[in-house]
Amino acid sequence: MSILVLGGAGYIGSHAVYQLINQQNDVVVVDNLQTGHREAIHPEATFYKGDIRNIVFLRYVFKKESIDAVIHFAANSLVGESMKKPLAYFDNNVYGTQVILQAMTEFNVKHIVFSSTAAVYGNPAQVPIAETSDPNPTNTYGETKYIVEKMMYWMNQAHDIKYVSLRYFNVAGALHSGEIGEDHRPETHLIPIILQTALGQHDHITIFGEDYDTPDGSPIRDYIHVDDLIQAHLQALDYLQHGGASDVFNLGSSEGFSVKEMIKSARKVTGAPILVESGPRRDGDPSVLIASSDKAQKVLGWHPSRISIETIIKDAWNWHRTHPDGYGRE
Ligand code: UDP
Repeated sequence: MSILVLGGAGYIGSHAVYQLINQQNDVVVVDNLQTGHREAIHPEATFYKGDIRNIVFLRYVFKKESIDAVIHFAANSLVGESMKKPLAYFDNNVYGTQVILQAMTEFNVKHIVFSSTAAVYGNPAQVPIAETSDPNPTNTYGETKYIVEKMMYWMNQAHDIKYVSLRYFNVAGALHSGEIGEDHRPETHLIPIILQTALGQHDHITIFGEDYDTPDGSPIRDYIHVDDLIQAHLQALDYLQHGGASDVFNLGSSEGFSVKEMIKSARKVTGAPILVESGPRRDGDPSVLIASSDKAQKVLGWHPSRISIETIIKDAWNWHRTHPDGYGRE
């Protein structure tokens, strides 16, 4: 029996495949390679190139492989882009998941672990944010993920498909060995841009807003190591396989760091000066996002271990320093 990883060539999906294979699972990867990289796919995984929106293709994969459960990472995930191209996000994230659930129903696959996001909360009334906080997305990306959560809820009622939806905070870091890491094109995320600046690929990093209601004026986020994040997926799968009920969990470190604190820590790790400039706020950015991950710790038994911000930046640096062009020019 195999685990089907949708989006297994992407940043987070590729880390999931490595951990699953390290733990002796058979893994099937589906990816359309729109944003993922073929080089990121573990050589021992069975790979099918194709699009989740194509039911004929999905039926082919489900028929050929004996799929036990699905972990679904395949999505568009840039907040800014989602505001400019809402229909592309509804198409890939919402309709794409609808097609997956259709295939799961046809082939009687009953368990799915889904990548959701802290963006479902919008501007939370209170931090740390618990799962009981009302979702109120302020961008299209968060909205599409929230709609999928509701779709899975109704599919559970109708077809008994059990799901765990994991609401990620800011995922960062890389596999400790440095074999795989983060390579988005274009890159928009804070840590990769800081480290590219340390490598001399940009002359400075722009801080998007220094007038937030935070101690140093820059926004605060909760950064979680990708390895810890994936560990939670494996535990979620185990939870479902042992009869756990469908549920939603936050995944974060429960600690917040400002943009300026992140830059300071990266200077320490890299020894590079990392010049900064002050820029305007980025549309849709909340001031503070910090998770309460108590529920995942209690129910799934999840205990993140690489929570120091320096460890996260060190592992990311290990990747960027040894792969200055990411997976290479494509
Ligand atoms: N950020 C920044 N400069 C950059 C990229 C990001 O100041 O070049 C800030 C951004 O405003 C946010 C934080 O860094 O407060 C994390 O942004 P990222 O895009 O990594 O993740 P997000 O929180 O949007 O998911």
